[in-house]
Amino acid sequence: MMRGMAVLGLYALQNGFMGFERSGLFYDEFSGDRVRIPIACWLVRTSDTMILFDTGLSPRAVPGLLRNDPLARFTEEDLLIHRLDLVGLEPDNVDMVVLSHLHYDHAGGAALFPKSELIAQKDEYSYAHYPSSFFESFYYRKNFELPGYRWRLLDGDTELLPGVTILRSDGHTPGHQSLLVELPESGPVILTGDACYWHEHADKERVPGVVWNPTLALHSLRKLKTIARLVRGRIFPGHDPIFWETVKQAPDAYR
Ligand SMILES: [Zn+2]
Repeated sequence: MMRGMAVLGLYALQNGFMGFERSGLFYDEFSGDRVRIPIACWLVRTSDTMILFDTGLSPRAVPGLLRNDPLARFTEEDLLIHRLDLVGLEPDNVDMVVLSHLHYDHAGGAALFPKSELIAQKDEYSYAHYPSSFFESFYYRKNFELPGYRWRLLDGDTELLPGVTILRSDGHTPGHQSLLVELPESGPVILTGDACYWHEHADKERVPGVVWNPTLALHSLRKLKTIARLVRGRIFPGHDPIFWETVKQAPDAYR
């Protein structure tokens, strides 16, 4: 029991937008129509620890994205370092970086955090180094091959601190994880990452189109829904453009 430790707030840090095919969003759709989706990072402030959930795109990937993707939107303010600056932080002030998984739009900014503890599931870390051919384009070694960085590799659900709990949520990838944050006023929130792209995925139990194991992805979605129901919490999906319009953006916070 860590007396005095308290979760104080949750900040949404927008990291731009990209285009994505509906067939990539929904397992049972075959439409190549593209939709604009947000790229999200989140910061959890506790009384003594700063925890970042996901790091978005690598800054060096942004020019190519803007050249090749007509739906991409990325401003100077969308850079993660500028979003952190909005809440008065530099990368070195972040104690823990929780990576939902190591896809390029979640682990792209990990290199910004040489002083932080980088936290991923062991299975994700090893798969990312030797992915199946169909997943190679989602994993860039430069994003997570970081000599001298401190990794903490987990094996399943883990309470990081009182009120901040990692929930294993495989399926989209072999070692995906989500984060349950118990806020003092707003109540519990589950940051799903790509275990739940949109609210529609939770509501209608739809599996992501980009998926390593669709059956496990469905089990994880149900697990997150069950936990949300039991703790009377809310699901904050990973890439939902409609939800994103309703999100309080940093420097505002969910308290
Ligand atoms: Zn992903």
